[in-house]
Amino acid sequence: MATTTQIEIDDMITVGTLAERLSIPVSGLITELMKNGVMATVNEKIDFDTAQIIVEELGLGIELVKKSTDIEVKHAHKKTKPSAKAISRPPVVAVMGHVDHGKTSLLDKIRGSKVVEKEAGGITQHISAYQIEHKGRAITFLDTPGHEAFAAIREHGALLTDIVIIVVAADEGIKPQTIEAIRFAKHADVKIIVAINKIDKEGADSNRIKQQLSEQELLVEEWGGDTVVVEVSAKTGQGIDDLLDMILLVTDIEDLKADIDVPASGLIIEAHIEIGRGPIASVLVESGELRVGDYIVAGTSYAKIRTLENDKSKSIEIAQPSTPVTISGFKTLPEFGDEFVAYDSEKAAREATNQMLKDSKDNASRLDISSNELIRLINRNNELQELNVIVKADVQGSLKSVIDSLKALDTEEVSVRFVGTGVGPISENDIRLANTSSAIIYGFNVYIPASSKQQAKRDKVTIRQYNVIYELIHDVKEELSRLLSPEIVETELGKLDIKGVFKTTKTEIICGGEVVAGKLQVPALARVVRGREVLAVVTVTNLKKGPNDVKDVHEGEMCGVDLKTSQKLDLQEGDKLEVFTRETLERKL
Ligand code: GDP
Repeated sequence: MATTTQIEIDDMITVGTLAERLSIPVSGLITELMKNGVMATVNEKIDFDTAQIIVEELGLGIELVKKSTDIEVKHAHKKTKPSAKAISRPPVVAVMGHVDHGKTSLLDKIRGSKVVEKEAGGITQHISAYQIEHKGRAITFLDTPGHEAFAAIREHGALLTDIVIIVVAADEGIKPQTIEAIRFAKHADVKIIVAINKIDKEGADSNRIKQQLSEQELLVEEWGGDTVVVEVSAKTGQGIDDLLDMILLVTDIEDLKADIDVPASGLIIEAHIEIGRGPIASVLVESGELRVGDYIVAGTSYAKIRTLENDKSKSIEIAQPSTPVTISGFKTLPEFGDEFVAYDSEKAAREATNQMLKDSKDNASRLDISSNELIRLINRNNELQELNVIVKADVQGSLKSVIDSLKALDTEEVSVRFVGTGVGPISENDIRLANTSSAIIYGFNVYIPASSKQQAKRDKVTIRQYNVIYELIHDVKEELSRLLSPEIVETELGKLDIKGVFKTTKTEIICGGEVVAGKLQVPALARVVRGREVLAVVTVTNLKKGPNDVKDVHEGEMCGVDLKTSQKLDLQEGDKLEVFTRETLERKL
């Protein structure tokens, strides 16, 4: 058997370098890329997945392996052992589970009962993370926007999360999204606490849930395992204190710590623009202490921190590890999911930003072709149907989550095409764009000014507004399903030997014969067969037994048949009709 050689390459590689690594002429590689619909010159970069597909097609007996990715590096960073000087820090907790099992209610209950100070003015803010106090100790909760959207922050969120609470409704039990959440938590190597919710409800059956958990390899403590399970009711508040006790217990066992005498670093968990204040970012400090006046760099954006506010909109001077804070002072909007690092001078921060900008420009020069697109190009016979959409959301975090969730719906046959995306209200410009590109506008937690509404009405542009991400995703899924070509199912019914032809016009034939197999029914279609040849496909419009119209005729019976034809047909005695039905079934994504 031929042996396979492994070659390690980066996420992106120029065509020239790849050819060199494969020891093949560049022209050969370019030709192969072209065959697959990728036009790339020697200095252009292609991504790992594209390279992998091409190398497989070349059949060189070479397997490409990705060099350890960024995310793993970051993981390593997170899992780095704190030094001996590290201090204890609060746990960062995310709540996940199936839709309607009570994640929001649980978070609200915890927050409502524990947060003493409410936000000023009663404005509902988009809070991505908040801290509560229980028994004099802090616990940080990450409010992950919907479970499907969690995929978008999974890579980054996982780096921050210490504990995932899997919420399971006691009356419904484990559902597909619960299983996904469990899989995610295990994969991210975070501690799991199961909250069996809605125990106040009739039909609540904790034992059944525990049984189901064991099927997911989560054996509860009372059955000899190590999975912590707490029974709660987000409605009555029962068990909430126990749940919080358990979070603190897991925190103590895990001995969560962070260094504070290091430059502050953490993650951007939300970013948006506020009129009069400029770019505002919510961040979670991972290690170090963040202070007003610090210089921080996040992605290609940097800030001199002007104000630092805690999750209760109170100005603070210092934020310690595991603390969610809101920062103003960014020059440009940082991106959700970016890591930030503090620098001790503006000069150092600027230099770091410039380097990031340069790197991102290098990346931007890459061919914008992903492996999915390549697979589509390879299968270009199956024409791809695209759904044009414009997405507007309230904040950048949710915009990214919506976009990433919708991208995940793409298949080889149908795909979402983003004609426009942005943060803010649905503008007249959006309507114009939707009109010229036949796009549907999806608004997530956004408002439509009256002028846009009027224009949408005039231009017959569809705007759909949602404030629950699942519902938005579901709607797009339905739209994509409509684009799928329907499945055609043919069912054979029976055969007829023609014994006589009584009338033939351009569009109609009346004939008679014997059913020799199966049964005939009306309405149906029929193939007209002479010898081995199919002459035409016609429609059976009527069946007669003697003088009476009938719905069906069985094997061995004689009958009269009315046929409708779209072409002149010279039907003869001895021809056969093969009668069948044809249904078009709508397909679902
Ligand atoms: P999510 O989709 O997981 O965020 O679920 P929600 O928090 O929106 O809850 C879904 C529904 O279940 C809502 O109608 C809640 O009022 C209800 N619910 C949530 N927790 C409980 C509970 O402990 N007991 C009862 N009886 N209903 C609950």
